[in-house]
Amino acid sequence: MTSNLQTMKDVKSIRDTDITGKRVLIRVDFNVPMDANQNISDDRRIRSALQTINYCIDNNACSITLITHLGRPKGAYEERFSLRHVQKRLERLLHKRIEFVEDFEAAKDEIAACSLERIFLLENIRFHPGEKKNDPELSKRLASICDVYVNDAFGTSHRKHASTYGIAEHVDVKVAGFLMMKEIEAFSKALETPTRPITLVVGGAKISSKITLLESVMTKIDKLIIGGAMSNTFLRAMGYDMQASLFEEEYVETARKVLKQAQQNKVKMYLPVDVVITDSIEHPIDVRVVPAQDVFEGFQAVDIGPATVKLFHEAIELSNTIIWNGPMGIYEIDRFSKGTYKIATAIADCYAYTIVGGGDTADAVDKAGETENFSFISTGGGASLELLEGKVLPGFELLDRNK
Ligand code: ADP
Ligand code: MG
Repeated sequence: MTSNLQTMKDVKSIRDTDITGKRVLIRVDFNVPMDANQNISDDRRIRSALQTINYCIDNNACSITLITHLGRPKGAYEERFSLRHVQKRLERLLHKRIEFVEDFEAAKDEIAACSLERIFLLENIRFHPGEKKNDPELSKRLASICDVYVNDAFGTSHRKHASTYGIAEHVDVKVAGFLMMKEIEAFSKALETPTRPITLVVGGAKISSKITLLESVMTKIDKLIIGGAMSNTFLRAMGYDMQASLFEEEYVETARKVLKQAQQNKVKMYLPVDVVITDSIEHPIDVRVVPAQDVFEGFQAVDIGPATVKLFHEAIELSNTIIWNGPMGIYEIDRFSKGTYKIATAIADCYAYTIVGGGDTADAVDKAGETENFSFISTGGGASLELLEGKVLPGFELLDRNK
């Protein structure tokens, strides 16, 4: 059904090339969540890259250079987004010394020296304004410090940036890392040979970037469950006054289109029938459950209510493949986390093939203690939704192919 996945499965993996004595550049995704003091709160993304890094060490690469972004700097240095905050954790996880590189061109000779097995970690690539613009100059400069380019940054593979896309045009050998291949394999199982019904559960707050994807997934799924701030936009589209809730007025029309398309494609839609509302997020005094039509003046919907949990639970139970992206409410705050945790458990308990994607959603699943009970935890949120759309992700597009 989905040939985009086959196209991606056909790229060469790091196993298909000889890296002995080569300068290997690996685009990893170390965009980890950090607290206000720059302590890493979840290092899953770093751990996910270890297999590829260890493979390079075991196969005697001349040098290994790691490149990633962290957070959302505006194309210039910002201390809080420095990769120095990641260096120590990486050293601990690899049991190796990591050399930090502020200016990769100045370190060119070091990287080529090949005397010892050396691992370099480059400073945040998004400190370069050319990264997000996919600037060919930056791509070329990056390409000049390696013989083999390995893309293992699945979480960023839906972006056409210099280090995830452009660079591949200027390197002779470009392959996918183990994480990339593992992710594609997991989604292929869910989408290429799916056991139906396929249910997509979407929530969270990144409304504008996710809602447009929903229009194009209708032909692939049987049920669509929507919660979180995303559902506020849909409830608004149905004519309900969502008061102070987080939703996006500019996308209410898109929500209407999604509703119509669901109907045309016979996709069953499930929206909240009741919501948890509060007078304030930081200092809640009045918190209660009301029908989705009855949000009080000045209040905001911050979680799905118990009737909705029951409704979603029943829809989930009758599914054979479930893909989840986006929490059902503000799960970071205890009082508003029940809906998300109950849905996490409902999906985990289901005898289905279950995939969860998205940084916050994976974190919520972890906090619910259900990580082990999902078939697959994806490191990509946006990337996994684009797979569902039937796209070949740019991060795979320019890599070498087996045929
Ligand atoms: P992911 O990181 O899994 O892709 P998002 O980043 O899209 O998910 O959304 C996660 C965020 O959505 C969380 O910080 C959560 O607090 C927020 N959120 C969910 N529901 C609501 C809501 N009803 N109102 C405000 N924020 C919400
Ligand atoms: Mg998020």
